Amino acid sequence: MQKDMEQILFSEQEIKDCVSRLAGEINRDYAGKEPLVVGILQGSFVFLADLVRQITLPIRVEFMSVSSYGSGTESSGSLNIRLDLAEDIAGRDVILVEDILDSGNTLSRLIPSLQERGPASLKLCVLLDKPDRRVKEVSVDYLGYSIPDAFVVGYGLDYDQKYRNLPYVGILKPEVYSK
Ligand code: 5GP
Ligand code: MG
Repeated sequence: MQKDMEQILFSEQEIKDCVSRLAGEINRDYAGKEPLVVGILQGSFVFLADLVRQITLPIRVEFMSVSSYGSGTESSGSLNIRLDLAEDIAGRDVILVEDILDSGNTLSRLIPSLQERGPASLKLCVLLDKPDRRVKEVSVDYLGYSIPDAFVVGYGLDYDQKYRNLPYVGILKPEVYSK
């Protein structure tokens, strides 16, 4: 898989340091609380697994799977909840965990729909942000890295369902797409 990489953006060690920093911020902000950590499948599963092991609070973990209807690689249209939360989040402190924020189409629909369920608080933690690509405004509470407009894979992020298991984040070589 390494031969398919144009560039490694963040090494395994850099990501580790970044995840520790984010967990430290969460441990500080939620001291005395029992937040519900919600991972957005599939991309967030690696990030979430590392993040929760650095969180020292008595958290609970759940997953959601959502997609925006639309064509190709551009997310658009309306929100489709493929897998919903098992727990009622009314009165809970919820931390949404997402791999990457791109156009913002997905989260700008998901966040208001979760707000309607009456959580005590709802915050967003994302590993990667591509601010140049933003179409819908989304505010991030815990951010790993801002990155330029490039398609990245690894550390949970896929191309055609592959590369999720790479321990680093990298940019794919263009010829991989044109195959
Ligand atoms: P948004 O709704 O913000 O446009 O899309 C966010 C979703 O698009 C992410 O959760 C992720 O699944 C996918 N995505 C956006 N940019 C990238 C990228 O650079 N690499 C990968 N693998 N997925 C991306
Ligand atoms: Mg995703």
